[in-house]
Amino acid sequence: MSADAPRIYFQRAADQLDLSDAMRRLLLTAKREVQVQIPVELDSGEVATYIGYRVQHNNARGPMKGGLRYHPQVDLDEVRGLAALMTWKTAVVNIPYGGAKGGIALDPKLCSTRELERITRRFVDSIHDLFGPDVDIPAPDMGTTADMMAWIMNQYGKYHGFSPACVTGKPVDYHGIPGREEATGRGVGGLTLKILSRTGRKFPGTRIALQGFGNVGTFTARFLHDAECRFVAISDAGGAYHRADGLDVPGMLKYALAHGGRLDGYTEADRISGAELLAADCDVLIPAALGGVLTAANAATVKAPIIVEAANAPVTPDADAVFDAAGVVVLPDILANAGGVTASWFEWVQNRQHYQWGINRVRQELDQILGAAFEQVWQLAQERKVSLRTAAYMLGVGRVGKATVLGGLG
Ligand code: NAD
Repeated sequence: MSADAPRIYFQRAADQLDLSDAMRRLLLTAKREVQVQIPVELDSGEVATYIGYRVQHNNARGPMKGGLRYHPQVDLDEVRGLAALMTWKTAVVNIPYGGAKGGIALDPKLCSTRELERITRRFVDSIHDLFGPDVDIPAPDMGTTADMMAWIMNQYGKYHGFSPACVTGKPVDYHGIPGREEATGRGVGGLTLKILSRTGRKFPGTRIALQGFGNVGTFTARFLHDAECRFVAISDAGGAYHRADGLDVPGMLKYALAHGGRLDGYTEADRISGAELLAADCDVLIPAALGGVLTAANAATVKAPIIVEAANAPVTPDADAVFDAAGVVVLPDILANAGGVTASWFEWVQNRQHYQWGINRVRQELDQILGAAFEQVWQLAQERKVSLRTAAYMLGVGRVGKATVLGGLG
């Protein structure tokens, strides 16, 4: 994705909020953008040089927070856009953070575990004085794992001492918390049920098409399957699977677990194309893989009356306009997938208190925070007759703007 999409949505909300040009510029500009060189020795003995990024967008409401992405297409523009999304996301759910994002342009599938560890530790060596528990707290994103967060905490500790709150999404056995791994999918599932209720639909039998069967996709599928929704199509990077009378979700979860997290070779369903999945006859379409998958070119093929943006920025602004005009309800990413950062906040809070909550408390507080944010966004959308996306941006941008004014320029 590019930084353009969140900027376009920001401007729409800023128009509604009647923000001055000066305030728009202040809120749109990143506080700090860092690019570093990461030279490492590969297992072969050769030296490879990677490029790492960290964009710290805004800290008006608290320390900056956002994931670290390992993907070949990572560049400064993408990280910039994702960092801004984090600022509005943390504000929509009203947790005391700003927004940041980082990444390294590499394909983790082409690196050994030892190489990934050296790359991650070397990245920390380069930026350890720019992040930390009170400044900016990284977390996993596409291509990064809990184990990598453990390396980050360990490497950071070599410079700054024991600081588990310097990074979240850590393994449960290494200062992480139960409930973090499922949180984004649980949030997507719970918010999907809220949309269904608000639009007068019943959960049992609701037909869902899901793109992506990784962390977010699998936990979303589990949650909505338990609510008796019917998954008619599911895809991952290897292909898409369809069954009009409902896929066997527990069977697919088991299959993926036994096959390195992938569905390749699954035979209990019809194979369809990725494009057919997006155009599937269903009630809810949940893109939970990549950004920019619903564009002006394919938006008109979508039959679902509801789209839940589990991934970051799966709908481009052009497609968003098509959906808006057609009356398709789009639950925006900055609310739909905010369960992850909310549970990351719980992890940070517990790390700072050297205390542990049980899973029930994590789930209860997560559901309460997301539920409250949903109600506020829904109400605002009704009152101002705007889309859920514009309402969510109005809420987020409004809160960051207020904090900026209250804090002053210093
Ligand atoms: P992941 O790497 O665990 O899973 C990604 C899934 O997408 C995999 O199943 C992969 O096979 C699939 N995929 C890749 N290309 C595909 C394609 N062309 N068609 C269909 N499927 C494809 O990643 P994740 O953590 O589940 O994240 C997914 C999205 O959610 C990303 O956009 C991420 O930024 C966003 N997100 C994740 C979290 C989190 O807590 N993990 C939080 C907020 C947002």
